Amino acid sequence: MTEDENKIVGENFEGTDEENTKAKISLTLVGKLLTVRPYNVEAMKRTLVNVWRVKDNVAIRMVETNLFVFQFFCEDDKIKVMEGYRWFFDKKLLLLTKIMGDEQPSTVCFSSSPFWVRIGDVPFNKRNLDFAFEIGEHLGGFLEFDDSDPLGWEAFLRIKIMVDINKPLRRGLKVANGSSSPIWCGMQYERLAEFCYYCGRLNHTDVECQFVEEDVVTKGVVYEYGPWLGASPKKQARGSLFDRERERSWLSKIKDASKPRLPGYFDPKAVSKGPPAAARKLTFSAP
Ligand SMILES: [Zn+2]
Repeated sequence: MTEDENKIVGENFEGTDEENTKAKISLTLVGKLLTVRPYNVEAMKRTLVNVWRVKDNVAIRMVETNLFVFQFFCEDDKIKVMEGYRWFFDKKLLLLTKIMGDEQPSTVCFSSSPFWVRIGDVPFNKRNLDFAFEIGEHLGGFLEFDDSDPLGWEAFLRIKIMVDINKPLRRGLKVANGSSSPIWCGMQYERLAEFCYYCGRLNHTDVECQFVEEDVVTKGVVYEYGPWLGASPKKQARGSLFDRERERSWLSKIKDASKPRLPGYFDPKAVSKGPPAAARKLTFSAP
């Protein structure tokens, strides 16, 4: 660097427009499409505007290759997009993140994305919030538990988790099972975008895979992953609200039923005393 280049600009800078900038940034999301392939940017913008259906407007600008700023104009719109469904364009996942303001576009980091996952074949005694939390934390971060099945006797546990987009997707997990050996519970991702059926990563497909082993041509290719890792995008309704409330009330009865019960008055193991007065009389009338 030259001497001039080495001088630092803005050390004592006090802008007059700071409040406006802050407000603008607070209504901003930054995003990128999870792909290594070129795509039609204008078509993506049109698609997102169509599916988001914001109340006010949204302005979309590309600040770097495959890095977009989404400028919203009201808080509700931003929350709706950030916390609504995950968004796709051309079967590719759109990653979104909030910014503080002092980041450089080149350093904005997209490392994870929220997913609803289904865990199948869960042991009967582990179908509850506590265990869902344990699983969620193990898988990358617990966000939410679907408690629309109060009894827990559905085909799967449904948990919202943060998924590390740089790691291969998970096909399942090993669960400790008391004194016997650990068991395998399979996993599926809801609304799964395109991903690599060879290495299981989300940011490319098998055509662009960088993790192909050299002997793949001579040995033959083995796809360890496949479309079976995705669950059907529509969540199956798990009964009506009325049914769920009814099941919850039944559950509270089960808890009562499992409390210890008294043996009957005439049970041979029960000790049935007489009235306290009679006991006193016996004591005092003894010779
Ligand atoms: Zn791959």
